[in-house]
Amino acid sequence: MKWRSMILVCATSSLAVAAVLVAQFRNGPPWRHPVVSSQSFHVGGAVIQVDFGPGALDLAHDQVMQWVRNSASSVATYYGRFPVTNDRVLIEPADGRDILRGTTWGGVDGLQGFTRIVLGKQTTQQDLDEDWEMTHEFTHTAFPSMDDDHSWIEEGLATYIEPIARVQRGFLRPEKIWADMMHDMPKGDPESSDRGLDNTHTWGRTYWGGAQFCLQADVMIRQQTQNRKGLQDALRAIVNAGGTIDKDWPLRKALEVGDSATGTHVLVQLYDAMRDAPKPVDLTVLWKQLGVIRDGDGVRFDDHALLAAVRQAITRTPATGVVLPKP
Ligand SMILES: [Zn+2]
Repeated sequence: MKWRSMILVCATSSLAVAAVLVAQFRNGPPWRHPVVSSQSFHVGGAVIQVDFGPGALDLAHDQVMQWVRNSASSVATYYGRFPVTNDRVLIEPADGRDILRGTTWGGVDGLQGFTRIVLGKQTTQQDLDEDWEMTHEFTHTAFPSMDDDHSWIEEGLATYIEPIARVQRGFLRPEKIWADMMHDMPKGDPESSDRGLDNTHTWGRTYWGGAQFCLQADVMIRQQTQNRKGLQDALRAIVNAGGTIDKDWPLRKALEVGDSATGTHVLVQLYDAMRDAPKPVDLTVLWKQLGVIRDGDGVRFDDHALLAAVRQAITRTPATGVVLPKP
């Protein structure tokens, strides 16, 4: 069973992940769970069906729908379209508050993408406004399914792309996400026992080691193309070549498709450097080159830094514009 999950606290050990999977399937596969109401909307060439399971939420369904629409709009804006054409989200109320669990599957039940969200009954509008997880889960639809050794690219992409997509859509300010990256990226640093991204399946290396790969790749592609192309171009090409979550691809195939779109060899070469060796990233130097300077709890920008234009290009709304949802 291919499954993609953002279970930050649960994904720290394979035992915990197995326990979550057992829990998710206790009542049959999640896509067969009971539904009490259903709506759908269009965005970027896709139809997204949103189903609600039994149980009352403090939030109105319209508020939840708006949150799902906004998240889909961010991902469609980043990719120029929604990555798959048919997708379903199941919202299952549970005791508690906030988004308790999100998992995305590809190619189940005749759907290209299926995301199950366990939503706390006491969740507030502010929780939804501050949420990243729905966007993270939708981002998983935009890359082919990989062997388990390559989970780092699936989680790394979702971790790196989610905030950028929300800035490009207009929901976050660049200062916010660069401050978060400065805070969180070191969680992906290799430890002394590290054997590279393909062989070190810790939480830190999977989510943030994968995100470090993406950030480096983005910067390198932009450096090698005089800032004309970025990781975004590579990722759009992979989706346009049919590389979505419902397809099983070898990682190297996806990276080669991405590289051909940017006219570089960045993705394949960086993969070969990081797959079976620790290869630490000097983040201190990278922040300085990008012109990201710590300032209290946040950051300020140095627009005269060597790679300031690269930093600006990463979060700029693409020429294809903002992609809005329709009823
Ligand atoms: Zn994930």
